[in-house]
Amino acid sequence: MTCPNCGGDEVVFPVLEAVREHLPDDRVGATICAHCLRVSPADEAPEDYPDFSTVSEAFPDDGETSAVLAVLLALLDRLVLHREDADRVATEAERRGVDVLLFLDRVAADQSVDPELDVERRRDQLEQLI
Ligand SMILES: [Zn+2]
Repeated sequence: MTCPNCGGDEVVFPVLEAVREHLPDDRVGATICAHCLRVSPADEAPEDYPDFSTVSEAFPDDGETSAVLAVLLALLDRLVLHREDADRVATEAERRGVDVLLFLDRVAADQSVDPELDVERRRDQLEQLI
């Protein structure tokens, strides 16, 4: 699929039950753009987790954990509205062994993506939150 924001390639992934309720639209799947990292809801989800390294090398090898981080990116976009949800999802990622602030640093440093989101600013806001 093609990103409506930038025309980049989108990767479809299943949204884990553990974090689904924290997304505003409560869908089984979502897409993440490999260029601008915009996350959009999807009505259908693949059974398996995709290879998120095609989006950014900042994602961990584990697809399921990467999906949690993709959900976090979606919430960071609306951090003012979804502080509590972002906090819960960040906690879930940390429980899986991810340093979310380090992950965001790596996303911000990744030259292969051009995030729509101001990753560094959101990282600082999240740091104050968690
Ligand atoms: Zn895009």
